[in-house]
Amino acid sequence: MENCIFCSIVNGDIPADKLYEDDAVLAFKDVNAQAPEHFLVIPKEHISTPNDATDEALLGKLSITASEIAKDRGFAEQGYRLVMNCNSDGCQSVFHIHLHEKH
Ligand code: AMP
Ligand code: ZN
Repeated sequence: MENCIFCSIVNGDIPADKLYEDDAVLAFKDVNAQAPEHFLVIPKEHISTPNDATDEALLGKLSITASEIAKDRGFAEQGYRLVMNCNSDGCQSVFHIHLHEKH
């Protein structure tokens, strides 16, 4: 989608510090980290808000990708926070869904 910063990261127009990528999802470091490790896991497909998400497998993949990153980076057992914000009351600022992973 035009004028979507995360679509621009997916298509390579904007750089990101990528951790994981496959056909469906992309994970990269949050540019304004709120924790020592703060990543965003996004679908490559543009989905504006959690209210617009209908693909159960794709949503599940965001969570599983986050847990794989935690295992790879060695903080899975210590733990981490997964958050997806929705619209204004949920403090969503980028309208392409993303799972925050914070450790
Ligand atoms: P939210 O408030 O849930 O919509 O979170 C959006 C997140 O995207 C914030 O934590 C921002 O720091 C992050 N962010 C915005 N632009 C970029 C970017 N170009 N690269 C990485 N993270 C970004
Ligand atoms: Zn987008």
